[in-house]
Amino acid sequence: MILQNDFKRQWADTGEAVLDAVRRVGESGWYVLGREVEQFERALAEFCGAAHAVGVASGLDAIELSLRALGCKAGDRVLTTPVSAFATTLAIVKLGAIPVFVDVDAFGLIDLAACREALRRRPEIRYIVPVHLYGHALDLEALSELDCRIVEDCAQAIGARFKGRPVGTVGAMAAISFYPTKNLGALGDGGAVLAGSADHAAAARQLRDYGQSAKYRHSEIGYNSRLDELQAALMVSAHLPRLAAWTARRREIAARYMSGLENELVKVPRAPDGSDSCWHLFPVLLEPARKAAFIAHMKTAGVLCGEHYPIAIPDQPAMQNVAHETEGSCERAREWCAAQVSLPIHPYLSGAEVDCVIEAANAWKG
Ligand SMILES: *Cc1c(COP(=O)(O)O)cnc(C)c1O
Repeated sequence: MILQNDFKRQWADTGEAVLDAVRRVGESGWYVLGREVEQFERALAEFCGAAHAVGVASGLDAIELSLRALGCKAGDRVLTTPVSAFATTLAIVKLGAIPVFVDVDAFGLIDLAACREALRRRPEIRYIVPVHLYGHALDLEALSELDCRIVEDCAQAIGARFKGRPVGTVGAMAAISFYPTKNLGALGDGGAVLAGSADHAAAARQLRDYGQSAKYRHSEIGYNSRLDELQAALMVSAHLPRLAAWTARRREIAARYMSGLENELVKVPRAPDGSDSCWHLFPVLLEPARKAAFIAHMKTAGVLCGEHYPIAIPDQPAMQNVAHETEGSCERAREWCAAQVSLPIHPYLSGAEVDCVIEAANAWKG
């Protein structure tokens, strides 16, 4: 079977370096928020082209802490996308803030022109959480022109650039996830906040550790959202050093898909203009009524596809009892969710496997 992710192959490559890191941490006698985390934060900030990085417990927390650090509070409106991991909206809802969903564009990404329009009409909206979905970079020029506080959701987009500029550097803050399936995954949960200013980074550091300003001095109500030394150490020693090569391999596979897929029943949206994508996922679009049959056809050919995401967030059952708003109808988002299928695109796919995916998709008769 050709999987969406192949963690056993990853371990065969990284295992020794990971075990060295585990031994180092074990012998150090220090297990949470220590030297490994500090070293990882510096290396991560450098990789991302950000001034500061702050390790936290998850991507979800990274978004929530960033919003908090920027002053977002209960009742505030936050623009966001109806097509993303549920965590993007969950971070907003957990704060008691109110998500305002804006429809998506032809790539399934939040429509920034519609965001600008919404901000113009509703000056009370002061925040946005845009998502660089699938590893595509949103138009960072358009994003930087929005008149509001920005927390970029880079959970799927570490290493992506827009016209040379790295994602996560336009917003006051940005969020990264190290969930194992992400481009830079840990062996468990983890996340990071990126910040351009030392003050915002310091605010995130305080929030992640119970709101402590000094030992046992609590200046605000914070969280337990600490990154542990084990995850930081294995990221520094084993995963981060491979990230550039992993991303290059994802780009190679995407290029092969884009040149090899030639079935008019399998629409390939490609990447938006100006986006040097890091291809976390490779979305294609099917006739909604035949999507399940396509996924079954691929499975018969030995290819496991994914769906990202089958249900628009405002349509999720959990949202029915939660305050939220939509700008316009979000009809495109619903159409996108009904049509979207993800082909496998992890860095350990062999050339033969990539060919097999292309052949199977090209053989689909609808
Ligand atoms: C994975 C993901 C998150 C949440 O990250 P966790 O580490 O799982 O909490 C948020 N946003 C997007 C777009 C994601 O893909």
